[in-house]
Amino acid sequence: MSTTAWPDTACLKARLQRAQEAAATAGVDALLVSPGSDLRYLLGVAGGSFERLTCLVVPPPGHPATLVVPALERPGYDHVPTDDLGVRVATWVDQDNPYQLLYDCLPGEPSRVALADVMTAMHVLRLRDQQPKAEQVLAGQIMRDLRMRKEAAELAALRKAGEAIDRVHARMGEWLRPGRTEAEVGADIAAAIVDEGHAEAAFVIVGSGPNGASPHHDVSDRVIEAGDVVVVDIGGPVAEGYNSDSTRTYVLGEPSEPDVRATYEVLQRAQQTAVDLVRPGVTAQSVDEAARRIITDAGFGEYFIHRTGHGIGLDVHEEPYIVAGNDLRLEPGMAFSVEPGIYLPGRWGARIEDIVIVTDHGVESMNNRPHDLVVL
Ligand code: ZN
Ligand code: ZN
Ligand code: ZN
Repeated sequence: MSTTAWPDTACLKARLQRAQEAAATAGVDALLVSPGSDLRYLLGVAGGSFERLTCLVVPPPGHPATLVVPALERPGYDHVPTDDLGVRVATWVDQDNPYQLLYDCLPGEPSRVALADVMTAMHVLRLRDQQPKAEQVLAGQIMRDLRMRKEAAELAALRKAGEAIDRVHARMGEWLRPGRTEAEVGADIAAAIVDEGHAEAAFVIVGSGPNGASPHHDVSDRVIEAGDVVVVDIGGPVAEGYNSDSTRTYVLGEPSEPDVRATYEVLQRAQQTAVDLVRPGVTAQSVDEAARRIITDAGFGEYFIHRTGHGIGLDVHEEPYIVAGNDLRLEPGMAFSVEPGIYLPGRWGARIEDIVIVTDHGVESMNNRPHDLVVL
């Protein structure tokens, strides 16, 4: 569990109110929010959960929300200003039936409830057994409308995370050298992610040589060689819970593979063109298309094997997804990655990733390290 001064009571109150209104609009009798990013968003608590049910029950406006929590885990929520928020607390002990307790918090028999996307199947099925007539839908589509339109303080936290990860990339020459393994370099990067202001390192990808062609490569015992192209994709949350996520591609001296510079230039142009397109009113899929067209026209379309980006906030991957088929129109306050890549199997790969936010008239980048292929 971690606490910060923000989000404060007024902020949480406004979010809870919006969640209640969203529940009404969606036609559900309650949002059932188990521990995860949605609960952190609504209560400011980064609590975990095991086999015992913890769940914030959020009915439409006019009825109070209730936090159902095991008595032994109640202390983890002591700092939540439940009284000021108008949230009731219903504790339970091991011989109780928490699923019945949960439904007893609602004003009447529910016909439709929305479950947090991350609720475990064990709880989902027991809730269904308890109220077989209550249709179960996902709360993610309801909560995403709140979470992807970020408040100024959330954007400030993303900016802080972006500056911190930029400082780590700026120091890459301290660690990334021929003769070291990806795992050794990765351990140093992970320590620096914390040193430079994150609460923890959430992920460290060091994809050297052929490993760079695997977009979600982790680290391995491969020894990095002179001439290797190395994809470094790193990030983690700052204390407020908001994540950084930034990729730069490095080369150790002169590239050992042919055409690295020319291929990288295509990628750089694709990434910049996509970022430059971002502004309110533009669709998510058109940003993907802008990057993809340049890469495809250069003959590398089949080697760009993922969407162009993902939203980011309390989760590293969240809405909005920058992907073909997503006709969502961008709005001020949305935050997402723009991260095209080119992956040549068995040879090498490259990716450039910045987190950007949509401003009133355009775009602001959270990451501001140069986009060039970095020669170390
Ligand atoms: Zn990824
Ligand atoms: Zn990334
Ligand atoms: Zn990413």
